[in-house]
Amino acid sequence: MSLLAPRLDLATVTIGGREVSTPGTFEVINPATGEPFAVAPNISASQLDDAFTAASTAQLTWRNDEQRRRAALRDAADAIDAAAPALAGILTAEQGKPMNDALAEIGAATYWLRYYAELDLPREIVQNDENGYAEVLRRPLGVVAAITPWNFPIALAMWKIAPALLAGNTMVIKPSPFTPLTTLAMGAVLRDVLPAGVLNVISGTDPLGAAMSSHPVPRKISFTGSTATGKKVAAAAAEDLKRLTLELGGNDPAVVLPGTDVAAIAPSLFWGAFGNNGQICLAAKRVYAHESLHADLVEALAEIARSVHVDEGTVEGAQLGPINNLPQYDRVSELVADALSNGARAAAGGRRIDRPGYFFEPTILDRVDDGIRIVDEEQFGPALPVVAYSSVDDAVDRANASMYGLTASVWGSDLEEAYAVAGRIDSGQVSINSHGGAVLPHLPFGGHKWSGVGVENGPWGLYGFTELQVIQSPPRG
Ligand code: NAD
Repeated sequence: MSLLAPRLDLATVTIGGREVSTPGTFEVINPATGEPFAVAPNISASQLDDAFTAASTAQLTWRNDEQRRRAALRDAADAIDAAAPALAGILTAEQGKPMNDALAEIGAATYWLRYYAELDLPREIVQNDENGYAEVLRRPLGVVAAITPWNFPIALAMWKIAPALLAGNTMVIKPSPFTPLTTLAMGAVLRDVLPAGVLNVISGTDPLGAAMSSHPVPRKISFTGSTATGKKVAAAAAEDLKRLTLELGGNDPAVVLPGTDVAAIAPSLFWGAFGNNGQICLAAKRVYAHESLHADLVEALAEIARSVHVDEGTVEGAQLGPINNLPQYDRVSELVADALSNGARAAAGGRRIDRPGYFFEPTILDRVDDGIRIVDEEQFGPALPVVAYSSVDDAVDRANASMYGLTASVWGSDLEEAYAVAGRIDSGQVSINSHGGAVLPHLPFGGHKWSGVGVENGPWGLYGFTELQVIQSPPRG
């Protein structure tokens, strides 16, 4: 029986600092039950225009006062912290993740806000002598359109909101229609904290993202989502040369070197693949394990998989919740079934869990190889293929034989050897003896190849929300 509140309707958006009702709504499904539990606002075309107009108007003053912006980011962090339990409850209800993970996600969002509130926005004097004066400034772009996915609706929103606003931009942000409610609720929390129009939070069914990408007002689109959608966003942005940051999909390899202590690494590798039920862009999605330890590693991972408590996110002790939505549930089911029908063995799991909602057994697959879909494609769910290899060079080649290049990990007992292998992998981040350790506010996060364009986080993420300007003059004395 569901422990969640029966209904939770958040049928208003935030435009120009005001609560705005929309002509239409759409249903939001609780993935733990598979049933609708709320409605969300579906904004009209003219309301989208209103949101961009509000952001344009607000930007004229917001861009002028850096200290005010820093103070506003700090206030926003305090307000979100104060609302964290309520926001986390909504997040668990719409996304499925356990309450502790939901609270951690809200905590990450305010951590990012506070990091950016203090980050320097440099003005560099590059010449100041008897021949002249030259200064390089970083100016805001204007209005930013932000589009986010359903796996970390709040944390990934904040990767955009915090640097964009610090740099002097204003924003219209749209969450995924699978998880609109927490972002809308955060918009409501910030209505009285940020000046009107600085952050406009809207929602709608899927044509809305395309309408934002082709809208004439925003000067940048900051998008996180799948590679397929990212390509459409890039094409739309090309029409009027909007700036772009694209954080896209991955098929992140974990290479386990010969001589690795399997028992020591198995828990960390497992959670590097199965955190958030595998629905993390940077989760380990395929393991290349040296043949000398492959069988032991499969068994160690399978043992953990069998012990994991999968349940509704509201249940105390739940470690993994349901998969977020039906299309994704079907996709994971299909990829596992495809592997099994092609000779793979499920060392753990392999099936849907027989209960309402989108629950799937944490699954470890062996007897798999490149060429099987779950090895070649992004599964984005709780199923991990473990491929055996015999030569490290071959493992590196196979790790790199993908159009994705988001993150990777190398595991070994010889740190120098692992470090040397890490440098040969084509991806934006490589962690040694952990997977995904490189996601911190001060480190650039972004993908190579089809995994993205540009980066988020750190000063590099901030610069992505700016345009350089040189001001030059005769000597200033
Ligand atoms: P998705 O591409 O289906 O949707 C992402 C967002 O784009 C949603 O808000 C959606 O409504 C919107 N959208 C849909 N069609 C659009 C269009 N034509 N134009 C503009 N926007 C449109 O992705 P998803 O299923 O929500 O998220 C899962 C994917 O996101 C995975 O591939 C995952 O790897 C990726 N992801 C990447 C990162 C990263 O930082 N690299 C982080 C999280 C998720």
